[in-house]
Amino acid sequence: MAAAAVAMAEQVVADLREKCETPVSLLHDVAAAMAHEMAAGLEKEGASKVKMLLSYVDKLPTGGEEGFFYGLDLGGTNFRVLRVQLGGNEKHVINRESREVTIPPNLMSGSSSELFGFIAAELAKFVADEEKCTNSLNGKKRELGFTFSFPVKQRSVASGTLVKWTKAFSIDDAVGEDVVAELQKAMEKQGLDMHVAALINDAVGTLAGARYYDKDVVAGVIFGTGTNASYVEKADAIPKWEGELPSSGDMVINMEWGNFYSSRLPVTEYDQDLDNESLNPGEQASFCVKDNIYEKLTSGMYLGEIVRRVLLKMSLQASIFGDIDHTKLKTHFLLRTPHISAMHHDETPDLKIVAEKLENNLAITGTSLEARKLVVEICDIVARRAARLAAAGLAGILKKLGRDCNAQKQGSVIAIDGGLFEHYTKFRECLESTLGELVGEEAAKSVVVKHADDGSGIGAALIAASQSQYKSVE
Ligand code: ADP
Ligand code: MG
Repeated sequence: MAAAAVAMAEQVVADLREKCETPVSLLHDVAAAMAHEMAAGLEKEGASKVKMLLSYVDKLPTGGEEGFFYGLDLGGTNFRVLRVQLGGNEKHVINRESREVTIPPNLMSGSSSELFGFIAAELAKFVADEEKCTNSLNGKKRELGFTFSFPVKQRSVASGTLVKWTKAFSIDDAVGEDVVAELQKAMEKQGLDMHVAALINDAVGTLAGARYYDKDVVAGVIFGTGTNASYVEKADAIPKWEGELPSSGDMVINMEWGNFYSSRLPVTEYDQDLDNESLNPGEQASFCVKDNIYEKLTSGMYLGEIVRRVLLKMSLQASIFGDIDHTKLKTHFLLRTPHISAMHHDETPDLKIVAEKLENNLAITGTSLEARKLVVEICDIVARRAARLAAAGLAGILKKLGRDCNAQKQGSVIAIDGGLFEHYTKFRECLESTLGELVGEEAAKSVVVKHADDGSGIGAALIAASQSQYKSVE
């Protein structure tokens, strides 16, 4: 690479580094803004970009639940059915069985009755197979928790109307309908005697799954393809709630925090372009409302894409990769977050993995070691900013709960799930150390971040258990 090109490429990276800086003072401001938005969202419907939706889950599992419960998890291309046998405080989960089923693509854009009919039929098969082995019901109705990771408007713990489909789904006649009623109807057609006891999303499921084992768990957070958080709020701290206060005094809030915005967020030209292009065509740039900007800065769907945009600029401006064909490098979302994670963790002396990823995914061959080093640095800047902003969000929740400073007698555990957190080691390490930095040495002793595996699967069954278990007592 010519010296002038190197200098120009280094300038692009230096600019990026500067614009992505997240000094502790900025993170404290972001955390304070998050706590502020949380309070605003609880005050009044529509008062904050952070929606702070009531989940209507007022009884989280305690670990004492007993019996057989079912869970159904629908959120992507697969759905999962599972059954757990809960043995109470000493034994916890005695047995669990699950089955994963791929949804035929034609059903993702068909009719509501076809989709739910398919799901109910698979569920019925699962139940029939299972109960050949055990007679678990003792005359009781089967209870099911349903994890449905699409935007819904809930009015009770076991009902919710679909606001819109996301991901690969688009079934028009389901929008505006109560998804629980649709599922219940389909199950009845199958002759399946089962009651949907709870409708939740994956963040709430993660919270419930972790809380079952540990009463110190205060929040459940997802850093996967997208990001979201849920936490336990005091029911009397929710002014917008008009119903009767629950006997537990608690309410789980589904924050929908991907839409959080603060002017302190370090947004670069690359993020802005990404954001603009995701707006509906025809909307004017001057009306540009930041659409899910916090999610774009902190979740797996976007980190690879941000890096791709920087690489493209560096290549076009400084020809850092030589005379290459830019077709692939210009293709949106071709560079995925697992790729940048692999490059970022490359410890070979000549950055062999970086060379390989650039070649296999972007058709960039014959890169110099200097260029590869810059690529790693870009991954580092983008992932570190993500992890530090993610930590600031968590600090915001702790702040809202009054657990962000001073030593606390009670521990505060934050349960996190999602592929980004699970697999991107440097993201995870940076998130954890930054949270420690933000809450300070004393409070850090009582704050724990924990990986909660498979919350969305088992969490729904556990909430079904906790919701139904105490019904007879009340
Ligand atoms: P979802 O959020 O769709 O329910 P997951 O929690 O499994 O699914 O997260 C999947 C996301 O995690 C992917 O979209 C990707 O961005 C991220 N991811 C998966 N594997 C890795 C990896 N090895 N390194 C970094 N990110 C990863
Ligand atoms: Mg998931």
